[in-house]
Amino acid sequence: MKRSGDLCKIDSLGRVVIPVRLRRKFDLKPYDALEVFTEGGSIILQKYIPTCVFCGEEENLTDFGDKCICGNCIAKISVLNAE
Ligand SMILES: [Zn+2]
Repeated sequence: MKRSGDLCKIDSLGRVVIPVRLRRKFDLKPYDALEVFTEGGSIILQKYIPTCVFCGEEENLTDFGDKCICGNCIAKISVLNAE
């Protein structure tokens, strides 16, 4: 893990501001979702990229509840349902 050189403080509501330099570097826009990971004593934030729950595809996604399904998997499921 590489030090960014930035220091953030947690406010009274538990919020942290990600420095603008890092938001630009990682193309983070207002309301983008971040995934939160932990590793040992570290908290890791990663830009959330929605993927198909079945195959991991990132393109041609349809929301299904709180999951995403790609067009290819929808087609495969549709064939199963028709049989
Ligand atoms: Zn898929």
